[in-house]
Amino acid sequence: MTMETLPSTAQSAALFARARAVTPGGVNSPVRAFRSVGGSPRFIREAHGAYLTDVDGNRLLDYIGSWGPMILGHDHPAVREAVAAALTRGTSFGAPSEGEVRLAETVTRLTGVDRVRFVNSGTEATMSALRLARGFTDRKFIVKFRGNYHGHADGLLVEAGSGLLTNAEGALGRSAPSSAGVPEDYARLTLVSEYNDPAALDALLAERGHEIAAVIFEPVVGNAGVLVPTPEFLAALHRVREHGALLIADEVMTGFRLSLRGATGLLGLTPDLTCWGKIIGGGLPVGAYGGRADVMDFVSPQGPVYQAGTLSGNPLAMAAGLATLEVLEGDPGLYTRLEAYTARLAEGLKAAAQDAGVPLSVNRVGSMLTAFFQDAPDGSVRTYTDAARSDTAAFATWFQGMLGQGIYWAPSQFESIFISAAHTDTELDATLDAARTAYAHLGGTA
Ligand SMILES: *Cc1c(COP(=O)(O)O)cnc(C)c1O
Repeated sequence: MTMETLPSTAQSAALFARARAVTPGGVNSPVRAFRSVGGSPRFIREAHGAYLTDVDGNRLLDYIGSWGPMILGHDHPAVREAVAAALTRGTSFGAPSEGEVRLAETVTRLTGVDRVRFVNSGTEATMSALRLARGFTDRKFIVKFRGNYHGHADGLLVEAGSGLLTNAEGALGRSAPSSAGVPEDYARLTLVSEYNDPAALDALLAERGHEIAAVIFEPVVGNAGVLVPTPEFLAALHRVREHGALLIADEVMTGFRLSLRGATGLLGLTPDLTCWGKIIGGGLPVGAYGGRADVMDFVSPQGPVYQAGTLSGNPLAMAAGLATLEVLEGDPGLYTRLEAYTARLAEGLKAAAQDAGVPLSVNRVGSMLTAFFQDAPDGSVRTYTDAARSDTAAFATWFQGMLGQGIYWAPSQFESIFISAAHTDTELDATLDAARTAYAHLGGTA
């Protein structure tokens, strides 16, 4: 398909018009609206393997994977069968069931945490982990990093990632909310430091370490585009505990994606608490937080920190998560295959961009990748400030070029794409063919 014969999107447009009348912006999560790249979103009818089919019948090669969960590809038979079997036994009990124990046993065994509590989203996981850290340390302040995203709880919508670049006031650790409706009084308790700046973190800890309950971070960032931590930054994170603060790894995106032990396992970090979401639910709504027994036993009903959920540990969701983790664990070559695909994709994108005279800087880890439209050596984009130098207009044009050829890339310069086990050489070749066309149009050499 060439860029000149664009597919029909009439049914998607009609649904979007209806959606806008009854839902804010027509979507239930903002980045789905395609605001930063223009145009209107595709409404998806079904998904199998590496492909989505929209309501107009267009087949799209999917690089979003539901923003991370679908590491096995869509409609994986093991997951489908596990959910179908659970469905015959009822959908929610409001009482404990075996699936919760089995998934908790699997998560603790794979990740090395002592205890885990299941919730319904990544947002709930980070929000609950922070309450726990405050209850455990009896301190108020938390530290997060500029451009990291930890879900939409009030205190975490401060200098948050995914394109919400806000103007810092400059002073160390001072920050403004990224969203209306977040009182300054809440934002005040969130101190912000620069990712990959160990000196800034050390300085903040030296000044205020005694007041800080926890430092929360993305061990590999996906929400400012992919950013990889430097060894010096990791060493600074290890020093957090010297100040009596807890280290909270937000592995909602990276958990079970970069390895069975997540990004922290790969990087040799041992956090006090870890948050999960996305893959842990196999495409159903699940989040979790876990860690050291002495900290986790502060959670109710064992301890004084309250946290609850009507649908937490839902039997369908537990079945989908367990089936997903079992497939991942049963296929030891899977992470290597994902990485190999992603490495070849990175090389191909870079070569195609160079041929077309389009500046591109690629960051990738495992099956996560961001191609920043900027003239910097690969791997040198290390902070949100670096990422923000990208040419978002060029990205948007390239994105539309890809979508017109049936390649469904993340609709933002500041997001990771996700490779699944269903992506094969066929998909890789199709992607690079499309990318060459899209870059050539952008570079004006076609
Ligand atoms: C997606 C994400 C969250 C939020 O999870 P939701 O399930 O969308 O609430 C939190 N942290 C990170 C790192 C994420 O990528």
